[in-house]
Amino acid sequence: MEKHLVILGGGESGVGAAILARQKGYGVFLSDGGSLKEVYRNELEQEGISWEEGGHTEEKILVADEIVKSPGIPEKNELMQKIRAKGIPVISEIELAYRFAGSSKIVAITGSNGKTTTTALIHHILKTGGLDAALAGNIGMSFAKQVALDPKPVYVVEVSSFQLDDIDQFRPYISVLTNITEDHLDRYGYNFDNYIASKFRIIRNQQATDYFIYNADDEVTKRSLDKFNIQSIQLPISMENENSAAFIKDGDMYVRTGEDFINMSIYDFTLKGKHNQYNTMAACVTAATMDIRKEKIREAVQTFQNLEHRMEHVATIRGVEFINDSKATNVNSTWYALESMTKPTVLILGGVDKGNDYSLMQEMVAEKVKAIICLGVDNKKIHEAFGNTVSIIIDTTSAEEAVGAAFAHAEKGDVVLLSPACASFDLFKNYEDRGRQFKRAVIEL
Ligand code: ADP
Repeated sequence: MEKHLVILGGGESGVGAAILARQKGYGVFLSDGGSLKEVYRNELEQEGISWEEGGHTEEKILVADEIVKSPGIPEKNELMQKIRAKGIPVISEIELAYRFAGSSKIVAITGSNGKTTTTALIHHILKTGGLDAALAGNIGMSFAKQVALDPKPVYVVEVSSFQLDDIDQFRPYISVLTNITEDHLDRYGYNFDNYIASKFRIIRNQQATDYFIYNADDEVTKRSLDKFNIQSIQLPISMENENSAAFIKDGDMYVRTGEDFINMSIYDFTLKGKHNQYNTMAACVTAATMDIRKEKIREAVQTFQNLEHRMEHVATIRGVEFINDSKATNVNSTWYALESMTKPTVLILGGVDKGNDYSLMQEMVAEKVKAIICLGVDNKKIHEAFGNTVSIIIDTTSAEEAVGAAFAHAEKGDVVLLSPACASFDLFKNYEDRGRQFKRAVIEL
């Protein structure tokens, strides 16, 4: 009898899992508590997959042989508890995709910040180097959909901690852990160790012929290494430690390739800022491990186009540069954004705060920021945190208003940086919507 798979959640990963499972001969039912996007409805109809939305019919779910849980569904959800109580195996979409990825090589990237950038850069370098690699996960198709519709010899996959929570056999050839800072703690019982353990699951099935690339300057990662059983070959990156697989010295990046090095000036990187030097090092070590030729790595690092909403240059108007870093939704990413500023900065900050500790940004703000424009419904914490550090703090409730206020307080030679350290859904649909409205307001100035 065919195995019966139930998929919870009908977003990109859930629908991808449904399509792959159907293709591989499973009986499939997809259930979404909210409503499905039209494109996903059409995809499911096309494949003849049965589905429901607007609620979960337990009788159809608790009969599953296996459940694929979408990353957005928390464990404390009532239905999840019933599933666990019944002992039905639960996996994530990447686990299902892995099951059918065959002998293809998997490069998996996780971390609190820099995942998407690093994933996209790795993909770009591998493609430039001639590999037929797919980019899957957060940008492009879900990993499962990619495996179902367009299988490739190499998959470069961004994976979140939620995806890693429900893996079983998932084993990347190369695992990249960009860094670990407090995020999503609401989903981890407000216990940082649980979140760290979740990130480290990326290496748990790796063997001695696999590789683990991590940031050795990241305190949390460094102090956690001993706590996990790492079988793979460790390739640390570091700003200063010359024993690392990659490091930076006198403005040059060095990447070890056996006895030799690839080296190139950090000023040739298209990605700017210290955080991007880490992302670039991690990507280059990955590429070197995949045997991409030196010249190709150099070429690719210089031709990579940065992604929208991540330190994206928007325009320079009357000498004021506008940067869209709407994707910065936590304190750590905003810290790095400010760190890379070389001009006086008017910072647009605020939104929905996921338990931010602004004291971590205090020094950086004191050093770089001349005015703060709050863009959010509730800005009390920002006033409290920076009231003594920054003399100008203004409340606004639309992108247009924020851009207007920022421009009014900026002078020639300054930067206006949208790097909110918060989620966006008090005033916007999502961070993309926030970034686009910001860009529109800048263009209309
Ligand atoms: P993620 O996919 O992990 O959310 P992104 O690559 O989309 O990360 O980058 C989101 C934001 O995080 C960027 O706009 C930047 O401000 C910041 N960031 C990027 N890389 C790093 C890094 N290595 N360390 C800290 N912050 C980073």
